[in-house]
Amino acid sequence: MQLALSAAGRVFNFSAGPAVLPEPVLRQAQQALLNWQGIGASVAEISHRSAAFMAVAVHAEADLRALLEVPDDYAVLFMQGGATLQQVLVALNLATPGQAADYLITGHWGKTALKQAAPYVDARIVASGEAQGFCHVPARETWQLSADAAYLHVTDNETIHGVALNMPLLVEVPVVADFSSSIASRPIRVRDYGLIYAGAQKNLGPSGITVVIVARDLLERAGQPRAPMLDYRAHLERDSMLNTPPTFNWYLLGLCLAWMREQGGVAAFGARNAARAQKLYAAIDGSGGFYRNQVVAAHRSHMNVPFFLPTADLDAQFVAQANACGLIGLKGHARVGGIRASLYNALPDTAVDALMDFMREFQQRHA
Ligand code: PMP
Repeated sequence: MQLALSAAGRVFNFSAGPAVLPEPVLRQAQQALLNWQGIGASVAEISHRSAAFMAVAVHAEADLRALLEVPDDYAVLFMQGGATLQQVLVALNLATPGQAADYLITGHWGKTALKQAAPYVDARIVASGEAQGFCHVPARETWQLSADAAYLHVTDNETIHGVALNMPLLVEVPVVADFSSSIASRPIRVRDYGLIYAGAQKNLGPSGITVVIVARDLLERAGQPRAPMLDYRAHLERDSMLNTPPTFNWYLLGLCLAWMREQGGVAAFGARNAARAQKLYAAIDGSGGFYRNQVVAAHRSHMNVPFFLPTADLDAQFVAQANACGLIGLKGHARVGGIRASLYNALPDTAVDALMDFMREFQQRHA
């Protein structure tokens, strides 16, 4: 098969994160690195408190609010420490010491969230898909919700297992949702959530910066004793500049947000992401069992499509040969093996077509 190279020599990148960034964004950033806006220095070399950088921060927030239709009574924070730190901060900020907090476990990242919060709250499993190998979302009527929970934590999209919640949650308590691998992949109703967090490195931009969208009234909660650095209110009061922020990452994130708006926003991406994921699942299901994805249809992720070949040896050959054809980042997570194709917003449609062509050819050669 031909190498799937773009004019700039870039391959098709299916990495789960850090992941592919839009080419126009990279070109803009490349240019900004030497001499940004004629100031004679790059965006990475100036003070975060300079007027030029403050404008970047203001625009990024405005674009995020516009893109996701974030209501005014929700605050937006840009933080460091990844999604993993948020899994600690939600417990510290939204619950009192030892208070009950409910966790729905639909994959690896839900388990991680519970583990990170467990030292601070009485973290309870509402329901878990683990016994079935994380291939479904436990039916809503089986969830054992606590009457006294501070919040319910869910993972909107399980990046490793390819399980998407894809259902109304219908709970009384605030929902804390890890949207790391699905933010901006489709329209959502922010009001359905108390707090949304997402590491940027999948669908929003580079690693090193994390977006938090939180209902302002939740920030009035006492939470647990904590240092300002661990306190959402302190970050909000200082416009997410309590200490030196990752300025270049913030800038790149801003470029990605503006690019997504130009491309038609989350409605356009939602339709496109659904169509191409369906196409790939259809190819997997139509392969006569050569390629397998075990997630029940209603909860199949549109962002991360894991699949398996008949043997681990074939999985390895598939990854190596795909790589040689310019289809990179397809190796499944070490926990589950197999293949994983991540189809984030910045991945061009031609990449999915190239992957499907490669799958067909590989099957013909090895079935
Ligand atoms: N949650 C989800 C859904 C993820 O996919 C990841 C990273 N792959 C994390 C949390 C952890 O993110 P980070 O490495 O930014 O802490």
